[in-house]
Amino acid sequence: MAAAVRLAEKGYDVAIIERKEELGGILDQCIHDGFGTKIFGTALSGPEFAGSFMERVEKLGISVRLNAYVKSVDAGGGIKKITTVSPEGVDVIKTKSIIYAIGCRERHQFEIKMGGTRPAGVYTAGMVQRLVNLYGILPGRNILIVGGGDVGMIVARHLHLEGAESIMVVFPEEFFAGLPRNAQQCILDFGIPYRPRTIVKEIVGRERVEGAVLVRVDERWNPIPGTEEFYPCDTVVLSVGLIPYAKKLADLGAEIDPRTRGPAVNEFFETTVSGVFAAGNLVQIFDYVDDAVESAYLAAEGVEKFLRGDAKLEKRIIVKAGENVRSLTPHRIEWEDEKPVVAFLRPALEGRAWITVSDGDGQLLKKFFRQYVRPSTLERVEIPREILQDADEVVIDVRGL
Ligand SMILES: Cc1cc2nc3c(=O)[nH]c(=O)nc-3n(C[C@H](O)[C@H](O)[C@H](O)COP(=O)(O)OP(=O)(O)OC[C@H]3O[C@@H](n4cnc5c(N)ncnc54)[C@H](O)[C@@H]3O)c2cc1C
Repeated sequence: MAAAVRLAEKGYDVAIIERKEELGGILDQCIHDGFGTKIFGTALSGPEFAGSFMERVEKLGISVRLNAYVKSVDAGGGIKKITTVSPEGVDVIKTKSIIYAIGCRERHQFEIKMGGTRPAGVYTAGMVQRLVNLYGILPGRNILIVGGGDVGMIVARHLHLEGAESIMVVFPEEFFAGLPRNAQQCILDFGIPYRPRTIVKEIVGRERVEGAVLVRVDERWNPIPGTEEFYPCDTVVLSVGLIPYAKKLADLGAEIDPRTRGPAVNEFFETTVSGVFAAGNLVQIFDYVDDAVESAYLAAEGVEKFLRGDAKLEKRIIVKAGENVRSLTPHRIEWEDEKPVVAFLRPALEGRAWITVSDGDGQLLKKFFRQYVRPSTLERVEIPREILQDADEVVIDVRGL
């Protein structure tokens, strides 16, 4: 919606294709507040945040096709063809440029080597959020939550407030991996029990979950033999990570970054397929919706440059993730422009740090001080274009102090 609004405001003919019956994506089920602090300067709930964009979509008369699933895209040549499937049938839409913003999926139990049986009562956190917040259904009474990231913590609080009899949160890290404000406001303030350095070895139960075998892990997350313990519960909620939905772009031939697991993009979020852009959680997991929206605004600007035929740099600059950088966008700088390049990176260490930008020969070009970095917080830096003039390559590192 953010990208569509930006382009429609400039007079472009834009359409939004959405597979669900409503716009808003993941925001619709996030009824807690904390959205829009950067863009609107106030903490809105997910539906309120989405609603403000829906109003603008409507006011601008943007064409919206709901219940329409993008099945395939033919992105070769100047005119791209998008095939959608909807209750009305199969449709082909022709366009000059595409922004993919199809979000991410949740990791499931088999991706984290969890053994045991396959009874009813095992859910992903997103599914529980939908059941509780949108349909008023409590999935169980005695709940084990696996994962101490933001989503796990937020879901734990909702289940507590909705009347779950017991909740236990387990995670392999030493402390919650999500934002500190969520650890405080969702877990500690409500006295919800949790066990760090603990994982689920296997799920137990035939028809319905009867419990789980928990095991302690060391700092490398290796199970410690002899520490297994049966924990009785009727529901297991998995909140063990989000992965960009990049398969559709990979099918188009777009390069995928193994670190972000999303498409490799330039500074205006163009993928390696000309005229095909990407934004939001499809590119990398954004902790804040405001940053996801900024990626959409940049992609919209990129579409404009692409449609106008703006000049690209004679030689593109490769952007590399260096020391202590878990993931980074953009992957390359390609357009001639004056505005600074916005880079988003996930640090691999915790504490006071410098984020440094160097050229391929290791020459320091710029550094940014951070009072506290942590892997759970995506960092944003603006790299001035003038320092990049002679560079073929830039490397971004995070150096602890
Ligand atoms: C539990 C949770 C709590 C969060 N809390 C906060 C918070 O407090 N504050 C904050 O700022 N941010 C928060 N975030 C982050 C923020 O919500 C996300 O970064 C942002 O909403 C992602 O938006 P998106 O458009 O990239 O993806 P999504 O919202 O996932 O949207 C993707 C859309 O694409 C559609 N789609 C997928 N495939 C197809 C297809 N083939 N054809 C057509 N349509 C398709 C989907 O139906 C969906 O509507 C939270 C996220 C989660 C999961």
